[in-house]
Amino acid sequence: MDTARARDLLTAELADLDERVRYAESSRAEAASDAGDEGGSGTHPADHGADVTSSMDSELLLDTVADQRRGVRGALARIEAGSYGRCLVCDREIDDERLEARPEVPTCREHADTPVVV
Ligand SMILES: [Zn+2]
Repeated sequence: MDTARARDLLTAELADLDERVRYAESSRAEAASDAGDEGGSGTHPADHGADVTSSMDSELLLDTVADQRRGVRGALARIEAGSYGRCLVCDREIDDERLEARPEVPTCREHADTPVVV
């Protein structure tokens, strides 16, 4: 893939992830401030359960987004270093179809499940 296009895609993705972090952090803060204050809008146990779940979801989302951001930043660093588009395991070119779908992938299909440090 053209690295200029890859950079565009990755930069857009990073902005999108930043947005999701802000959203997750605000909903986590909301869930925390709701705890112990039902405000008369329903004291049913199920409502409390829903608050706990949404707080946990926010934590999970923040973890996931943090991982994705690391991946995207790693890919941008590889563009700067001139090694973008090559598998970190075998150094072969990653096919365009795979990069189109997930521009931040650090490995080829063959090494999709190989853990790498990006
Ligand atoms: Zn590979």
